[in-house]
Amino acid sequence: MPSHYTLRMQFGLHQSPADITQKIVTTARLAMADEIMLFFFAEELNDGHDTLERIDQWIEHSRPYRQALQEAGVALSLNPWHSLLHTDRFRQRKPDQRWQGMVDQHGTECTAVVCPLDADWRAYYAETLRRYAREHFRVIWIDDDIRFHNHGPLDWGGCFCPLHVAEFNRRYGLQATRAAIVANCTAPGEPHPWRAMWMDMWDDTQLALITNWRNIVEAEGCRLGLMSSEMGQHAAEGRYWERWWQAFGGDQPPVHRPHFWGYGECAGADLPEFIMRLDQNRSIQPEAIESDPEIECFNYGRWNKPFRQIGAQMALAHILGSTGLNISLYDFMGNDPDDEPERAEFLCAWRPTLDWLADQFPMSLQPMGIGVPWSQEMGRRKHTDGSGNWQSLVCSTRGWGRWLMGAGLACTARPAPAVNAIAGPVAWSCTDEQLHAWLAQGLLLDGGAAHILLQRGFGPHIGVRDGRMITQADACYSVEECRDPAFSLRTGAGISVNAGPYAATIFQGDLLPGVRLASMLCNPTHEDVGHGLTLFENALGGRVAIVPWQPHDFVVAMTIQRAVQLRNTLRYLAGNSTLGAAEGGPWLTPQFLTDGTIWRGAVWNTSPDAIRAITLTLPEGMPVPTAAVHVDGEGQRHAAQLRDGQLQLDRPLHQWEFVVLTDA
Ligand SMILES: [Zn+2]
Repeated sequence: MPSHYTLRMQFGLHQSPADITQKIVTTARLAMADEIMLFFFAEELNDGHDTLERIDQWIEHSRPYRQALQEAGVALSLNPWHSLLHTDRFRQRKPDQRWQGMVDQHGTECTAVVCPLDADWRAYYAETLRRYAREHFRVIWIDDDIRFHNHGPLDWGGCFCPLHVAEFNRRYGLQATRAAIVANCTAPGEPHPWRAMWMDMWDDTQLALITNWRNIVEAEGCRLGLMSSEMGQHAAEGRYWERWWQAFGGDQPPVHRPHFWGYGECAGADLPEFIMRLDQNRSIQPEAIESDPEIECFNYGRWNKPFRQIGAQMALAHILGSTGLNISLYDFMGNDPDDEPERAEFLCAWRPTLDWLADQFPMSLQPMGIGVPWSQEMGRRKHTDGSGNWQSLVCSTRGWGRWLMGAGLACTARPAPAVNAIAGPVAWSCTDEQLHAWLAQGLLLDGGAAHILLQRGFGPHIGVRDGRMITQADACYSVEECRDPAFSLRTGAGISVNAGPYAATIFQGDLLPGVRLASMLCNPTHEDVGHGLTLFENALGGRVAIVPWQPHDFVVAMTIQRAVQLRNTLRYLAGNSTLGAAEGGPWLTPQFLTDGTIWRGAVWNTSPDAIRAITLTLPEGMPVPTAAVHVDGEGQRHAAQLRDGQLQLDRPLHQWEFVVLTDA
């Protein structure tokens, strides 16, 4: 299957339809677009919830260029920018829009963003969808504002309005106040029963609303598409994904637009984060799905994000399995696509390679590597920090992915058969059965996860009798010194644990006999003040490693000493199984995928320093690839050589370029 380009564009009522028609048809042809997705009322052209009269004007105004595109064989979809609306930004509901505004946990109410339970708004929004659906768009997208989180200016989001509180009380026969609900749902310790009840109420009412919307648009032959956001935030809403696929897809494969890459130019160190984000989405999608990730580049143009990074973004989407790409390179103000004709040229130049990648990496492939598991129920099961804020239900999940891929090790967002890695509060969301299974294999724990497993009664399996989280106020640790040559670049190698957020709070345990100490924490005068990396072989036959620090979601303090320590530790945990890895420079990130029959790989260089040779370790079960293809920053392909585990590149592998491992 080839790729499928959908260009996302918006033109306003202030522009001449004849002028737009000519430009949009030309741009679609030059950019090799299969589909145009029109926005209505987005960003700069958003004036809150638009009136039905204005919606009719947008529909009529766009008719000439929609017809011209259809005659040119270009498919059409529509993304009305608001359902609930993303954010106020000083917009107001119009005088006759007497709807309940969205309300946050403190009682602050939005001036424009609405509560999804308001009956009059629901009638209005259903009518907008009827009008759009009569235009027979292929897909009508519901933007990711159909969420509870991230609605400025609210704190975390909503909705905790009187309608929602009344619905909660009606369902469960209670007389709770908003303050009592928030306090109980965010209380520390074992989650209060109200948390699941509240999240069930949120999820049920949203899904009833969306099911009605699907019925409206499907009656006219359109599909209803879902855009989604970050998984930790959705888990704090209590979202059950299989129910969302049912609501959006009905008896057809759902249509999904996952978000996975930063909007502006990102650092090379961020690639593992983007791999993990998209993999998390892929891991909860049903097998039959139309998945068209968002290639968002707000606020557009090459000053914001260079083409070579956008090319990498599109390529990664296909490496992890995508049916198409929702490409945003054009702004919402209706600026002339010819203002920067290089955009269409860029898309055209990359198209053959993206078609090739879509073919090389079919949707049936799954990533293989160190498992970095997570759970859609993490917001429901997490023990909070006691801050009382809804934000405390958001759970970070991708820290280990950033650090392990940063050390050149392949990872996956799904549980893995040989080695898994858990960091921080996500450990609350793993079931006892999962933990038992993983403890009988290889398991890497950070300090936070080790502390949680200790509290959950798994101490004997991780080599810890008792333990606590401490700070530098308790012991002035500043250097982690490697003592065991098997887990070090060399004995005596130092790794800083002085100032980074990953070392702000660390775990110190009373260790069981038989625990192997691979490093020690030292103070500034080089006295031992605690244990560092510990290794333990438990009675289940598994191997467990604990690092006292906590891999941070954003700050990755990688050095050659830390990278070698992590690689050696993970290889020990894997036992007789081989882990996929790439070495030869900083920020070399490998990916390996299989469906059980075919195997594929990709190795990225995201460092600004060019690479000429890479030492590859193929994962357990992967046959030696018979072809290696270097994809450069302009989307051109060049043969590379793979001999005896060494990738030799005829030309340097520059930043955001990658090598595909495949079969000739
Ligand atoms: Zn509400």
